[in-house]
Amino acid sequence: MDRFQHYIDGRFEDGAESFASVDPATGAPWALMPLASAADVDRAVQAAHRAFTSAPWAGMTAGARGKLLYRLAELVRAAAPRLAALETRDTGKIIRETSAQIAYVAEYYQYYAGLADKIEGAHLPIDKPDMEVWLRREPVGVVAAIVPWNSQLFLSAVKLGPALAAGCTVVLKASEDGPAPLLEFARLVHDAGFPPGTVNILTGGPEAGRALTTHPKVAHIAFTGGPETARHIVRASAENLASTSLELGGKSPFIVFDDADLDSAANAQVSGIFAATGQSCVAGSRLLVQRGVKDALLARLKARAEAVAIGAPDRMETEVGPLCTARQRERILALIARSTAAGARLVTGGQLSEGPGFYFPPTILDCSEAPDAPALAEEFFGPVLSVVTFDTEAEALALANDTEFGLASGVFTRSLTRAHRMIRGIRAGVVWVNTYRAVSPIAPFGGHGLSGHGREGGLAAALDYTTVKTVWLRTSDEPIPDPFVMR
Ligand code: NAD
Repeated sequence: MDRFQHYIDGRFEDGAESFASVDPATGAPWALMPLASAADVDRAVQAAHRAFTSAPWAGMTAGARGKLLYRLAELVRAAAPRLAALETRDTGKIIRETSAQIAYVAEYYQYYAGLADKIEGAHLPIDKPDMEVWLRREPVGVVAAIVPWNSQLFLSAVKLGPALAAGCTVVLKASEDGPAPLLEFARLVHDAGFPPGTVNILTGGPEAGRALTTHPKVAHIAFTGGPETARHIVRASAENLASTSLELGGKSPFIVFDDADLDSAANAQVSGIFAATGQSCVAGSRLLVQRGVKDALLARLKARAEAVAIGAPDRMETEVGPLCTARQRERILALIARSTAAGARLVTGGQLSEGPGFYFPPTILDCSEAPDAPALAEEFFGPVLSVVTFDTEAEALALANDTEFGLASGVFTRSLTRAHRMIRGIRAGVVWVNTYRAVSPIAPFGGHGLSGHGREGGLAAALDYTTVKTVWLRTSDEPIPDPFVMR
């Protein structure tokens, strides 16, 4: 079996213990991963704290940090085929997608390389003639970054990029499911020349996560994962009052009006729910369709779902690969069963095929007659689309907002005025109009409610990793007047 190592304080090392990572396409173990103990986590945080408070990182100019990030972007580009293949092997995410996504990971590092020396403070026109007052944007400190299994290279780039640009140091915990690509990525961090301790990468489960999030030297926790884990993390942050940014799940509405281009809407819906085998936080998992076009749209979706190329994730022609874990497949099956028991109708899919691997077919559930079906409220995190019919625009908006989540949304209509009304009315961090599942390093991304808070991408993300220092400088040579009066 292959072996992977932790990266702590600039050194690669084995964990005191290890665990086997399972290939989701076969269900068989294929590599040994180091398991971080609380002591490993402590060493990583201590190293990150030393790096944060001492030269060379602490005294480095923003431009020099940007150059390191730029070098990292170049190294990611050069290693792209290897990283994509590893991510496919360890998580089951199809090679078509990991190859495209890794190119984008390099773009994120490049964007934050350029942003490092553009995180500016401000000068204030203060109301006292003998004072100069300005604001310094300073790095918040040691960042604990925790990612889930579905897109580890991407979800860590959106944290590492802005955190390093801002001048923070990072301990990144890869998910215990599919950590190989991030442990391999550590070699690029090392080769890029980041000083020891600036970036530390380890893996482990909830125990390592708890050791990291309760560590007194952690100043900010950047987390992507499920809402239940987020609750643990917010409680853990109470120990040292660390700030948090949380990118959580969603139950995003995908709304199709009767004037929409149905072919385009069907294609976007396929991308929104079946791409990445539905294991995507922005999955457009609730299709809200206007009654007049329901049959026409569902016919297109059913035909496309049944024609999808399901197969080995490392084949370029595969469109839907296995889920990452057997646990995830059981969860999805149980949620479908609870939903059909509540009156949802299976349009296609829902049945497991024989054979090894954690495969699950594209599935459509019509919940139009089952408004209380759990499929409309709970996240599947798999290739399952739940459908609801509506008649009026007001009804569509009410259904769209009838969720505890608030991450993404999609609106398909040819009416410009209606598009604008929907954009205003939808409560979600992202609204896509006549498109879906588009991202960019330049555009902030994040949610409301159970979808979390804070933004990744853009300048907004870098500012999340800074704190403001207000500086007062007196310009008068006269002695300070009455010391008992606040000025
Ligand atoms: P999860 O919440 O179970 O695990 C995420 C990470 O948290 C893992 O690294 C895990 O080891 C760690 N963890 C678990 N318990 C912990 C604890 N007590 N303290 C600290 N860390 C702990 O999530 P998952 O099932 O791996 O991933 C799926 C979830 O992630 C879905 O809800 C999905 O929507 C969400 N997600 C969100 C986004 C986004 O950007 N909004 C992107 C991808 C995935």
